[in-house]
Amino acid sequence: MSITTDYTVPPDAPRHDCERCEGTFATERHLALHRGLAHGDAELSESERAAFAKARASEEDELGRYRILALGALVVLYFAFLFAYAMVT
Ligand SMILES: [Zn+2]
Repeated sequence: MSITTDYTVPPDAPRHDCERCEGTFATERHLALHRGLAHGDAELSESERAAFAKARASEEDELGRYRILALGALVVLYFAFLFAYAMVT
């Protein structure tokens, strides 16, 4: 996995730097995800591994929530167009 390092961070913004590469992240959770995905299980300490597992579970929960909301939005949109079509024709 390659990381784009061509970005700027405002000086007063919170930043979390990876100790193993040039990666900079806005949150501790993103840094934990990066460590687990980019640097592998063998390089990580026990606490970093635990942080990665927690961050990954949180990320999967958010993705699950997003999928349900996206599906709901598509169903609502489908029926809105269906009813609009039924009214027009
Ligand atoms: Zn890194």
